[in-house]
Amino acid sequence: MLQLVNVGHKSLADYATIATRGLMDEIRSLAEPLAGARVLELSATAFGGGVAEIQYTLVPLMQDVGLDVEWRIIRGADEFFAATKTIHNALQGNPQGLTDAQRACFSDFQELNAREIEIDEYDFVVVHDPQPVGVIDHLGGGRAKWAWRGHIDFSTPNDDVLDFLLPSVRRYDAVIFHLAEYVPKREGLPPCVIWPPAIDPLAPKNMALSLEDAAYIVDQFGIDIGRPLLTQVSRFDPWKDPLGVIDAYRLVKEEVAGVQLALVGSMAHDDPEGLEFWDQTVAYADGDPDIFILSNLNNVGSVEVNAFQVHAAAVIQKSIKEGFGLTVSEALWKSRPTVAGNVGGIVTQIENGRTGWLVDSSEDCAGACLEILADPGAARERALAGKEHVRKRFLTPRLLRDRLALFNRLVGRDTGAELEVIAA
Ligand code: UDP
Repeated sequence: MLQLVNVGHKSLADYATIATRGLMDEIRSLAEPLAGARVLELSATAFGGGVAEIQYTLVPLMQDVGLDVEWRIIRGADEFFAATKTIHNALQGNPQGLTDAQRACFSDFQELNAREIEIDEYDFVVVHDPQPVGVIDHLGGGRAKWAWRGHIDFSTPNDDVLDFLLPSVRRYDAVIFHLAEYVPKREGLPPCVIWPPAIDPLAPKNMALSLEDAAYIVDQFGIDIGRPLLTQVSRFDPWKDPLGVIDAYRLVKEEVAGVQLALVGSMAHDDPEGLEFWDQTVAYADGDPDIFILSNLNNVGSVEVNAFQVHAAAVIQKSIKEGFGLTVSEALWKSRPTVAGNVGGIVTQIENGRTGWLVDSSEDCAGACLEILADPGAARERALAGKEHVRKRFLTPRLLRDRLALFNRLVGRDTGAELEVIAA
């Protein structure tokens, strides 16, 4: 059997003051006919990155409203994860494709993982991202309804790699994307459902943390709390552009000598490039004592990420490609002035000039940070508008509602709940 992730317990009732009454009622009524439904959630890692972040909240909440959910992690090996990393990069537009050996390895692991799944036990299977997309090739056709969720930025995919995966994608009953423009321009796709992910306002990463407590925590990592801090929280991945963030910081430092930078990034076990890119980032920082490069290996867990976001004068997410970018909602929810790449799902969270700053280069990024440091009052107004935007659209109860609406739809139950569906 594949590894089962222990997600603990959460109670939807705790969210009553954060979600509207109407939304809470809708969730309850959508959940009622699904009581006892058996759901398998399949992903590549239980640690690091946005998918794991979402699952730790969504899975226990689905359980709390009466579904019987298992989240399991597929098996892999270095060679497989190297292939899936190539797939991930290619789907985000990298021209490098898969070798024949990588294709074979990828397919072998689909079969190997499929053999470990007792498919007859489930009513719904939700598969996350490309790594396990092909298990359906070996298990489809039974009573379970299958949905595949792509969490990355599919706006400019490498066609060869996309076409390699499409035969599997076509077998699903529905596929879910963050944005309508991520839907591949191909024939024969299943219904494509569009909804963005969400953050958990009650999780240790996002719960209210006072400025004093945040300052206390970042102080433990050597940050001088009397001087301004810029923070980016991201996996060590070229698409997150930590080197570009260092360039921006250096430009800011020419004008504000005291500025410090924290690059906080976890290492996921399905991310073989992470360690290498971490080393590159450290080398690029060139021993600057005001650049702090930290990760879970330095004991930076959820509360510490929270503190680094809360304490930051500005939070940066200078991505070059970004499926959604949970870190942007995390920062806005904490009313932090947020400067982020003008790409992918970030643009649904930040309206330039109203809820934050969208930037296309390190120079723009530095300019935005300088503006924030020069006029914190105006920056805070923007940040507060950002928080209200997140409250309406990007908190967990809405995501739970969308999921339940989809499950009902997949079994042909008309609940009247709206979903944005693009029938391909
Ligand atoms: N994250 C974290 N610690 C780190 C780096 C990232 O907890 O050192 C979290 C971050 O707070 C966010 C998630 O991992 O919740 C990253 O999700 P996002 O959508 O921003 O990017 P992804 O990693 O999925 O590309």
